Parts: sequence; C-alpha cells; structure tokens
Amino acid sequence: MIEKIYKNKYMATCDNCGTGQEFDNWADIMEFMWEEGWKKKLVDGEWKHYCTECYEA
Ligand SMILES: [Zn+2]
Repeated sequence: MIEKIYKNKYMATCDNCGTGQEFDNWADIMEFMWEEGWKKKLVDGEWKHYCTECYEA
C-alpha cells in the first residue's frame, strides 16, 4: 500500500511481508517501484503493492 505519513511524506509498504520505505513524494515511489520491480494488483477495488520477493514467490 501507499500511504501518506506526517505532513508531506509517503510510505510504500508491501502488502504481503510489510517491508517498506519512506519517500518525499509520489514520483519517487513510482521510480522506486519501477526500478525495484514492485508490482501492484487490484484486489476488491483496492490497490495492493508487492515487493519483488513476494511477487516472485
Ligand atoms: Zn513483500
């Protein structure tokens, strides 16, 4: 999942294992996910995000 934390920070968290990272803006998250190979999946109308390890497992 991607959630807004504090005032202007974002947190990207794997919905399976809970591993996560903090970012300053949305574009950084998108770049990170693209480079690291994270995947998103629509589940019951909600976007779930998975890190590379969980996605490949
Ligand atoms: Zn994971």
